Amino acid sequence: MPTKFFLLITITAILISCNKDEFEYGYLDDRLSPYFTMFELEAQQRGYSPNLSPDVIEAFIQNVYPNSVAGQCQRNDNRPSQIIIDEGVWNSSTDLEKEFLIFHELGHCILGRSHLDSAHPDGRCISIMHSVAGVCRNEYETRRSEYLDELFR
Ligand SMILES: [Zn+2]
Repeated sequence: MPTKFFLLITITAILISCNKDEFEYGYLDDRLSPYFTMFELEAQQRGYSPNLSPDVIEAFIQNVYPNSVAGQCQRNDNRPSQIIIDEGVWNSSTDLEKEFLIFHELGHCILGRSHLDSAHPDGRCISIMHSVAGVCRNEYETRRSEYLDELFR
């Protein structure tokens, strides 16, 4: 009797783990979730309620890119869009740089924003959606809320 009971538990455990593998959509790296929460908060303060649920967006930190690529958004219609952040870039970034990177990718994946390389007359970037570092002067550190107004415009 105790043997059968144990067998049943084992089979159930296997079924559960198979199911989990099949439907492993919506992965969000623990290191990224505070920035997702902050994105939601900043959006809400500006009258938006972005849907960051697991069936819409998932996000990974991986060691997959050549040095120059910090992150990427892959939009998918039939399954969650994916954000992939380079592990090396992540590990060498400050909190604010991490936020900038995640907000930029969420700008693509969630807000549907394209790149915007325009600059103000003084050379500072109009948007955090600029394509590469150096194309204009990024002042996210000192003008964060201004940039967020532009992002959620
Ligand atoms: Zn981009």
